[in-house]
Amino acid sequence: MKNFSELGVEQSLLNAIQELGFENPTPIQEQTIPVFLETGRDILGLAQTGTGKTAAFGLPILQLINPAARHIQSLVICPTRELCMQISRDLASYSKHKHGINVVAVYGGASIEGQIRDIKRGAHIIVATPGRLMDLMKRKAININEVNFVVLDEADEMLNMGFEEDVEYILGHTPSEKRVCLFSATMPKAIRNIGNRYMNEPVEISVGKSNSGNVNITHQYAVVHAKDKYAALKRYVDFNSEDIYAIIFCTTRMETQDISDKLIKDGYNADCLHGDLSQAQREKVMGRFRHHAIKILLATDVAARGIDVSGLTHVIHYHLPDDIENYTHRSGRTGRAGKLGVSFTLLHMREGGRLKDIERISNIKFEKVLIPSAQDVRDKKLLAFTDTIINTEVEEGVFDAHVMKGIESLMALEKEELLKKFLSLELRRFSVDFANSPDLNINPNDRGGAREGGRDRERGGDRGGRSGEKRIFVSLGKKDGFDIRSFKDWVAASSNLSWQDLHVDVSGVYSFVDAKENHVDAIIKSLNGITYNDRPVRAEVSGDRRGSEGGERRSYGGGRSGGGSYEGGRRSSGGGERSYGGGERRSSGGERRVREGERERGGRSDAPRSEGRFSGGRRSEGRRSEGRSSEGRSSGEDRPRRRQD
Ligand code: AMP
Repeated sequence: MKNFSELGVEQSLLNAIQELGFENPTPIQEQTIPVFLETGRDILGLAQTGTGKTAAFGLPILQLINPAARHIQSLVICPTRELCMQISRDLASYSKHKHGINVVAVYGGASIEGQIRDIKRGAHIIVATPGRLMDLMKRKAININEVNFVVLDEADEMLNMGFEEDVEYILGHTPSEKRVCLFSATMPKAIRNIGNRYMNEPVEISVGKSNSGNVNITHQYAVVHAKDKYAALKRYVDFNSEDIYAIIFCTTRMETQDISDKLIKDGYNADCLHGDLSQAQREKVMGRFRHHAIKILLATDVAARGIDVSGLTHVIHYHLPDDIENYTHRSGRTGRAGKLGVSFTLLHMREGGRLKDIERISNIKFEKVLIPSAQDVRDKKLLAFTDTIINTEVEEGVFDAHVMKGIESLMALEKEELLKKFLSLELRRFSVDFANSPDLNINPNDRGGAREGGRDRERGGDRGGRSGEKRIFVSLGKKDGFDIRSFKDWVAASSNLSWQDLHVDVSGVYSFVDAKENHVDAIIKSLNGITYNDRPVRAEVSGDRRGSEGGERRSYGGGRSGGGSYEGGRRSSGGGERSYGGGERRSSGGERRVREGERERGGRSDAPRSEGRFSGGRRSEGRRSEGRSSEGRSSGEDRPRRRQD
């Protein structure tokens, strides 16, 4: 594989992408950049979002621009305003060290006067949505007669959104001597037609579908009754609440709003995006989501197109999309840039066939998981809670005379009594949940095939609960600098076993190792009691009530364990309004809801040995519509789809 420099990328751009952490080119970049730089040919690229397309065309364009020539040299046309903003942001960051290049984004829903002013000030590259660009052309506010490069990004989306004529109009006003680069996730006939009409024997470049080929995405589903979907969603989110950062896809804007309203009412840190929102509202929601002020975003497929967010842990399909390709589009928003992600589907019985279609056509393997029971959620939260307490550093400065006076009555309590009182506060709420919360899985007796899914868990076959395997708790985790690979390496080396013998979950402050029974002793002997970075290591068979004991096993694709979830914010219990140090949490009506937004805290671990059911993932991206366009236009690939946004 060639590096960026060997592909011909110039030093100023190399410096910028190095700062962005791009170490090696992605496949689309590796194929596209040399064609751009070394030949004069057009490019027809089959690539989905998340493959690194923007740098694939952006770097060569920036390199080939002449900053001294004060006219528009390059045009990038894309379907949505968010994508437009994203591309221009990306181009600006790639050209950070190449001075004198002006990139101007023009898109609908924002003041056209401001954009006209920006263009007048001098633009080398215009990144535009078709509608607004046409508008500017008709007002004679933009001159694209001298462009050298035209990039059509997400061409299939542009056609789906009804921009075909607009694109043709625009292309018709560009000079015949130019290069065209077209990217599309799919290659329907209409795209080929554009290719044939506006491109000159393009070099065809295709990179594997980012999703089906993306080993970093775990695809999971749980089967529930349609009426239980919302409850199941909450359980799933609760269970993963420690670090969830997710998009939940709904089918209609009404459903999106409805679920979002319910989640907010139930105390979750959620909001929604759909076509009924004004541009200002959408930008506000997106800004908050991007800054993690919102952890759960409900969106329709159309609205989500513009979402370009990194670090998504989960993509949740409240319903499967109508379109199989949309499934891969959606799930491709997580599991990016080498991070793990979970694509989780809440399935009701009737949707089973569609799942099979997706498996077959997209070459995805789904894992069936179980919705955690309320008890599972409680166990995990308690684990997190105790872990938080253990890891909380006491800030002596807080305890001045006044405060000490205030807590005199607490100080008078015995340690055990005090602890019990604190934990009772937690237990009381969970107990209510537990007693009143049914198993939400359909056919709960059939646990077969259920596996843990997960973020900091290895992917792959069933494990942990597989007969003959045991789960070992180890008191080291990410806080000790481990990730899955390094932890597995370390365990394998310490216990003289090979990678194949081990499966691992790496959590914040502790981890689990799943291994065949005949390896368990070796692992425990080699780890228990040793010291790692001055910390004594505890390794023991997990007090797991499932798995090798033949008991039930749930698995839940989600978050990792309890590593200090609730610090930092405020927590309040339902009636009594007691608060104490935790990520904000509310409970109402006996049900316990978790507000995300925790921050992590370093620390050691004597994490309780209850089991963890972990998982998760991250990273995202998405795109979305240019105001006017989404309304009433179909958004499927080749066939009309139900209106979504
Ligand atoms: P794109 O498909 O252009 O939207 O890119 C998807 C994500 O991958 C963006 O967050 C980029 O910043 C990132 N990215 C693009 N190229 C690379 C690379 N060579 N190495 C690491 N990350 C990259």
